[in-house]
Amino acid sequence: GRAKSLPEGICFFSHELTPPGVEQLPLESALRSALEHGQLRLHYQPQVSLADGSLYGVEALARWRHDELGDISPVRFIPLAEQCGLIDELGRWSLSEGCRQLAAWRRAGLDVPSLSINLSPSNFHDPGLPGVILQTLTGSGLLPSDLTLEITESVLLYTSSNTLKVLQEVRGLGVRLSLDDFGTGFSSLSHLQRLPIQEIKLDRSFVSDLEQDATSRTLSKAVAGLSDNLNLTAVAEGIETWEQYRILRGLGYRVAQGYLFSRPLPGDELAHWLTLPRQGFSAGRAVADCCSPE
Ligand code: C2E
Ligand code: MG
Ligand code: MG
Ligand code: MG
Repeated sequence: GRAKSLPEGICFFSHELTPPGVEQLPLESALRSALEHGQLRLHYQPQVSLADGSLYGVEALARWRHDELGDISPVRFIPLAEQCGLIDELGRWSLSEGCRQLAAWRRAGLDVPSLSINLSPSNFHDPGLPGVILQTLTGSGLLPSDLTLEITESVLLYTSSNTLKVLQEVRGLGVRLSLDDFGTGFSSLSHLQRLPIQEIKLDRSFVSDLEQDATSRTLSKAVAGLSDNLNLTAVAEGIETWEQYRILRGLGYRVAQGYLFSRPLPGDELAHWLTLPRQGFSAGRAVADCCSPE
């Protein structure tokens, strides 16, 4: 437990304060050191165009392997980075590492059309973000149109109007913005109007229920229709079966990603995946053959 002194000199003891205080500090400094020493990695998951199975882009997902604790999920270390003031640094790292990799693939002759990077809502509190993005793109010889930034709806919660300004400036550079995990937040529809986005990603919880649950199909269909009307690209995430693929294509989704195509892979393995005969561009044909239009 941790004893805390109040200004009045009264001392109290709280069990509630103990666990985060004790457990989080070592992890926090480990994350700080991992960032400093380049021990974080990005893995990349292909995004496939449903019309012809061609590669639409890749999404970068952060990975951290701790010496003693093993792999720590981003679901855990991203919030930690937010809490301990490391999120700006982590965001800059993801951007530069992702752009470096995309440029390297292209130099190697691989046609990777675009790169999606996840940023935290708090990254958009930073008025310096647009400048960092522009610098990173220029430094790696990429165009703004090569980059998509994925954000969640909560980008507009608990934030100042500055956030919207940063989003608009980023969009003004020509970078695409994608609304991630769509359908899990609230007041989604009003956010759609306020955010300068070009893409919506249907949350994978809807996709995993598609085969069994008529309501999920109805909602997924509504999101596809909405995207179409607003001129946004509808992307479905977490596709694991051909049946989900078939249903989503029928509902009007343009792009999908999920274990059906590939798990997130290290950069060199993604490069190899692209050359496999039944995947990537030529896989496209295999994919299209497998699911004839309904
Ligand atoms: P997300 O951006 O919605 O990413 C999709 C998550 O679903 C990833 O989990 C991915 O590995 C997983 N996934 C992909 N296909 C399938 C599938 O077919 N089935 C299932 N069950 N899962 C699938 P991951 O890599 O653990 O990332 C979790 C979340 O952490 C991401 O959700 C994103 O919000 C956040 N994240 C990851 N990397 C970064 C980063 O560099 N920066 C920030 N700010 N957030 C990140
Ligand atoms: Mg994402
Ligand atoms: Mg998502
Ligand atoms: Mg998610």
